[in-house]
Amino acid sequence: MPEAMFAARASDATNREAAVTVDVAVVGAGFAGLYLLHRLRKAGFSVVVLEEGGDVGGTWYWNRYPGARCDIQTIDYGYTFDPELDTAWKWSEKYATQPEILRYFGFVADRYDLRRDIRFCTKVTSATWDDATGRWQLATDSGAAVSCRYYIMATGCLSAPKPPEIDGVKDFKGKVHFTGRWPHEGVNLKGKRVAVIGTGSSGIQSIPLIAEQAAELTVFQRTPNFALPAHNGPQPGDRKAMLENDPAAYREQARLSLAGVPYPQQMEVSWQLSEADRRARFETAWAAGDLVHILTQLWADQAVDADGNRLVADLIREKIQDVVKDPEIAAALTPHDHPFGAKRPCLDTNYYATYNRPNVTLVNLRQEPIKAITASGIATDRRSFDLDVIVFATGFDAMTGAIMAVHPITGRAGKSLSSVWAGGPQSYLGLTVAGFPNLFMITGPGSPSVLSNMAVSIEQHTDWVVDRLIAMRDAGFATIEATETAQAGWARHMADCSMLTLHRLANTWYTGANVPGKALGVMPYTGGVGPYRSICNEVVERGMLGFRLTGENVAEQCNDGEIVRLQPDVRLVLGMLAQMNLPPIETMGAQGARDFLNEFNKGRPAGRPVGEVGDGVLQGAEGPLPFKLYRPATPGPHPIVVYFHGGGWVLGDQQSDDPFCRDMCRRTGMIFVSVGYRHAPEHRFPAAAEDGYAATRWIAEHAAELGGRPGPVLVAGWSAGGNIAAVTCQLARDRGGVEIEGQLLVCPVTDCTYDRPSYTENAAGYFLTRGLMYWFWDIYCSPADRADPRASPLRGKLEGLPPAFVATAEFDPLRDEGIAYGEALAKAGVPVEQLNGHGQFHSSFTMVDVIITGVSGRVKMAEALRGFAGLPRQDSEQRAPEISVAAE
Ligand code: NAP
Repeated sequence: MPEAMFAARASDATNREAAVTVDVAVVGAGFAGLYLLHRLRKAGFSVVVLEEGGDVGGTWYWNRYPGARCDIQTIDYGYTFDPELDTAWKWSEKYATQPEILRYFGFVADRYDLRRDIRFCTKVTSATWDDATGRWQLATDSGAAVSCRYYIMATGCLSAPKPPEIDGVKDFKGKVHFTGRWPHEGVNLKGKRVAVIGTGSSGIQSIPLIAEQAAELTVFQRTPNFALPAHNGPQPGDRKAMLENDPAAYREQARLSLAGVPYPQQMEVSWQLSEADRRARFETAWAAGDLVHILTQLWADQAVDADGNRLVADLIREKIQDVVKDPEIAAALTPHDHPFGAKRPCLDTNYYATYNRPNVTLVNLRQEPIKAITASGIATDRRSFDLDVIVFATGFDAMTGAIMAVHPITGRAGKSLSSVWAGGPQSYLGLTVAGFPNLFMITGPGSPSVLSNMAVSIEQHTDWVVDRLIAMRDAGFATIEATETAQAGWARHMADCSMLTLHRLANTWYTGANVPGKALGVMPYTGGVGPYRSICNEVVERGMLGFRLTGENVAEQCNDGEIVRLQPDVRLVLGMLAQMNLPPIETMGAQGARDFLNEFNKGRPAGRPVGEVGDGVLQGAEGPLPFKLYRPATPGPHPIVVYFHGGGWVLGDQQSDDPFCRDMCRRTGMIFVSVGYRHAPEHRFPAAAEDGYAATRWIAEHAAELGGRPGPVLVAGWSAGGNIAAVTCQLARDRGGVEIEGQLLVCPVTDCTYDRPSYTENAAGYFLTRGLMYWFWDIYCSPADRADPRASPLRGKLEGLPPAFVATAEFDPLRDEGIAYGEALAKAGVPVEQLNGHGQFHSSFTMVDVIITGVSGRVKMAEALRGFAGLPRQDSEQRAPEISVAAE
């Protein structure tokens, strides 16, 4: 590669003064801006790109500090829109250096002749929407105005460096440098006394190299971060071979993945693996030197569950202790305040070993905060450090900074973006903002952006935006604007997604916590690039859902609504089920359906460990029934919960809800006894109901033998099991013989009519269908018997029943009868707590470790059961870990 040809070069400044009128103005000539320019130009739009820097490259133009490299493997970090480009450029290393990446952008700019439409050294100073003309008017620091129909921010997520935030910087007599604005001519640190403030990716990359040059290096660390060895070198053969074998498939896998890098989804959970297996996986990941590998490939629960995460974090902590010789320094470098991956981890080369050097000092700002920067150096509240150079590696006003803080953007009716975003960024799809017509953001807040391989996200965003502009032009539309409904829906979906991962549990630039006074909240989309892509496509398929389109000679189009109303994990599961194209369960016959369910259950994650699991036999209404008992690991005797599984009185058995029973046993600290009651069609109504009552009575009578607390028991059930639990409470009240102190009804069947709205709204598409419910009822109970309270407890007398917790799911045909039962209980004077799981479906609460968003519902259920049994509320330390920290 004749590299000199592509060396970064300043543009010709002579074209800077002319005013310009274009179809599209793009801000930024980095990764996104270049691709936008290429695609827009090819589509026939007139385009100008406005770039503050002197050349292309964006973040790679500015971040020239020693050690700057990408930390996604370069094989994955490039444009993929042109297969010829993919082969024309060869990366020299696994992780390319900043100069090489900059040369790549120069190469791309030359190859597609992009520079002629870029105005370098030009900063936009304001952008104002003009309703009368339907155009954006831009002012620039070069004095040249720009008028454009579409205004696209390709400003990057990490391009507005934070100010120093420390008093006295101006007094310092030595040199001050920011990693994010490193002098192009380089900085000679040889023989100097240097300070680095900050230990994020920029600090961690630069510290080892600065330590090699400087006479003395003092690192001022506020929060230790997790760093992994990059093991840089030649590109790994396995990934290279994967790409070369089938480039299209490799790229497509990346586009559909969660993080934008082609790795499979890990299915095994940590508790299924032995400690030795886990360590072996970890060592492989450590040796691989790949962030995406270690963040996604160890075990399925590592990113979503605090326990699973702690296992990885502990292993990394061990590594730090192994490398750093001084135990006190090792302790200071070891992160404990955030889950691994919740804050952006770093890739390093010799980072921890650098602290073994005699010329390197670590100052732990948690123990001795900086008081001020003085003329001679830095003073903490314990000591002073004389310095020649201070390097700020203190990061960026991320995601919103470059869009909001750099220039005022004024939308419809004079509203400024800063005021609209004062409480945190609002967007639709992370691409648009209501009230700001024809404004687009590439990798804006609300998009997967920084939680993904940026290259993949940038291409997806750009393609989507440009394709929309082409379609609008073809249809005669000139303005596009997100609706408030769509934007509010996206905010809710974002909040739902943020519960899937552990990012919300750390103070980071992802959440705005690194900038004093910034509104807090997870800014990137945590639902993954594959799901995000499918949502963007769905918006189009559903007639530009959530957008208002207008044009001079065409009728306004506004198909308003929210694009995702399901919880993100429910959406994924239902999507996978839809792809399986299963025949309706009701067409399989009872035995066929049972066989199907057994097979289906084999694919689910193993339930979590409890103290003990045992099998037994109890006396049902007409004979022996099997049961499964789940005992907590804590010392007993424990209260007993008699549990009835789901399955429409036809399917399932005492172990078919195994993960749910284990989870609830752990959360409540109670014994769960899951009863294998009789099923239809072999045993029709009222067999299951009578078994429920008889089994509960038997269990209460044998509580002590079962290791439980003698006295009243509790009942719980899901779906048809919820029906049996509710009926059992009524029979126990009427017949005596067993005292029940609380009932948990999860998406219960309570009535035999199908006319409530949830039966129509959720008739199909959410796994439990109306047709399947008809089938279950037909098999279980003849129409003449259905109004019997033992089949339809809603029709029974409800006074004097034990306190209840009734959980329902928004997208469940049974939703409204569950809600009706809760309301009727309350009316009858029964203490009731109701929960309607927003975005959930019938199986959400029982699909443990699959529907992660079901956790908060189970937490509430467990608290309710503990309350019924007179147990104290669990404090956060005692609870299952994923609920130990409050949601935002
Ligand atoms: P960063 O991750 O935000 O790290 C900033 C560091 O400065 C943190 O250690 C922070 O401590 C500290 N800090 C901030 N303000 C401070 C203050 N007032 N006093 C003392 N310490 C202060 O920033 P970054 O290292 O520039 O990295 C930002 C992101 O850019 C990375 O996460 C990554 O996504 C990207 N990046 C990528 C690469 C790459 O691809 N190779 C390289 C560099 C950066 P606290 O943690 O306590 O706030």
